[in-house]
Amino acid sequence: MKITFTRSAILALSIVGLFLFTQCGTDTPKTPKDSNTQTAPEKKQLPIPKFDMDSAYSFVEKQVSFGPRVPGSDAHQQCKEWLVEQLKGYGTSVIEQDFEATLYTGKSYTFTNIIGQINPELGNRIILSAHWDSRMWADSKLSTERRDQAIDGADDGASGVGVLLEIARLIQENPIEDLGIDIILFDAEDNGEHDSNPKTEEEELRSMRTWCLGSQYWAKNPHKKGYRAGWGILLDMVGAKNARFPKEAFSAQMAPSLQDKIWKLAQGMGYSNYFVNERGRPATDDHYFIGTIAKIPMIDIIHLSDKEDQFFGAHWHTHNDNMDIIDPRTLRAVGQVVTAVVYKQAGNVL
Ligand SMILES: [Zn+2]
Repeated sequence: MKITFTRSAILALSIVGLFLFTQCGTDTPKTPKDSNTQTAPEKKQLPIPKFDMDSAYSFVEKQVSFGPRVPGSDAHQQCKEWLVEQLKGYGTSVIEQDFEATLYTGKSYTFTNIIGQINPELGNRIILSAHWDSRMWADSKLSTERRDQAIDGADDGASGVGVLLEIARLIQENPIEDLGIDIILFDAEDNGEHDSNPKTEEEELRSMRTWCLGSQYWAKNPHKKGYRAGWGILLDMVGAKNARFPKEAFSAQMAPSLQDKIWKLAQGMGYSNYFVNERGRPATDDHYFIGTIAKIPMIDIIHLSDKEDQFFGAHWHTHNDNMDIIDPRTLRAVGQVVTAVVYKQAGNVL
């Protein structure tokens, strides 16, 4: 993902504001049933399972062991097969959504969004997502070596997927009955145009659209006809040592009450050093397209820098984004919070 330029961010935010929430004015999830009946859903606090950080870490490690998961590579193919096998093994009903897309370089590839459905028959659904591809270049301005070579993407890609696989495993062990959950692993998120230097809002939007090709495809072609979900959570770069997750700006626009609830919950659980109570900059990431195209409000938990001239962690899009940067405690902070959110939502007590 990349940061969105401030001027155009205002434009983009106004697009979100105009088309997304004029009808509902709230991001509080409601089931289709809720709106038709007078009875409130039963509230019950389900036990929240313990998130296993070592398990999540091993899932990150495994993805990285295939090599960079870049378009057209053997590592990409092998990692895809492994992810599908994992999600099936945890009892989810898996859809592999293949699509053709062309990168900004002009090269076309076959990509695959991987959707692991839990309770696929239910209409009351939420989305948990991350991207599983990694970047073909180490082209951050902070990058000092092998700039034309693919990065491991241990944090940028694999960390979010690792957390979601662990959550899938936990849900198999501690089944949820009254909530449908779609774990969506998007492909082709991270190979967009970096140094585009747009001069107009149109150029900025064009540049933004070179990223997140998997979520753009899914948002226009959901895996089921008429698909709806109340809301979603996106995880991106959630594994680095001393990561910080301010309240990302597009998320704040799309789903302010969900974002506030999650950050409050995280702070109550003792994770306020990660889930910092600050307004973050807008990131061009999968949630933006899910919100603007599919009209499903989604928040992004993403590591953003507090430095003026640096948007993400210093390892972002450099070869330092490898297993050395991953701290299991960061994976636990994010994983335990998202697990709590899911079980609270399932018991209608979020
Ligand atoms: Zn990236």
